[in-house]
Amino acid sequence: MRILITNDDGIHGPGLRALALAAAEIGDVKIVAPERERSACGHAMTMREPLRVHRAGSWHDFEAHEVNGLPVDCVNVGLTEIWPDGCDLVLSGINNGPNLGFDITYSGTVAGAMEGCINGIRSFSFSMAMLDGHTPPHFETGTAWIARHWETLLALPHEPLLFWNVNIPARPLEEVGEPRFCRMGERVYKDRVERRSDPWGRPYWWQGGIVVMDPSDPTTDVGTVAQGGVSLTPISLDWTRHDVLDRVRGGATSRT
Ligand code: MN
Repeated sequence: MRILITNDDGIHGPGLRALALAAAEIGDVKIVAPERERSACGHAMTMREPLRVHRAGSWHDFEAHEVNGLPVDCVNVGLTEIWPDGCDLVLSGINNGPNLGFDITYSGTVAGAMEGCINGIRSFSFSMAMLDGHTPPHFETGTAWIARHWETLLALPHEPLLFWNVNIPARPLEEVGEPRFCRMGERVYKDRVERRSDPWGRPYWWQGGIVVMDPSDPTTDVGTVAQGGVSLTPISLDWTRHDVLDRVRGGATSRT
């Protein structure tokens, strides 16, 4: 199986190697990743400047390339130059942090899988979900969990406009619960923009905020990961609200 891997934490992100190790169990891995961290870039792409691609050093057994761009750029460069005859699987991650609920709209990790999906390739995004500021990411858990569950992952539906977002709780492998199929939950931020002062007294603003989420609903990705399970969420590239479309059209089905 021909596998393209990218991420948004950059070519030096430890989760990238963690994912490559898991993927090497099932196929030939080629890595194309941003030369530096580009987290929270969403589905942006580079259009107003050239992309430069270099063979990355220190990757031992893996073929790895770094790009002065974003995860979407990496997938497109990868499908054009690195796997010119196409590939079978696009993987993005493992992200250093969760991509739950609305986070997926900001996520460069999820965007990498989304771009694979747009190109018609079976795609997954993977994230280690630590829900506080002091838990380590436990990438070794990510490697082991993914390596053990390829059969499950590759048996999931692969259809046009569909990809899978996977969040693995950041804890030792033996403490990870069962995988669960989940819908996207809600993960919003309180006090998102914080006003601060620089050393000269000039104001600046820093975005971060405190996460507010309801961990009690096990049908959501947020609830599943909060309860220690692995969330498997099918994501559609069709953002249309078909129920609303049907309603405003007076009951006629939106797909006809
Ligand atoms: Mn990231």
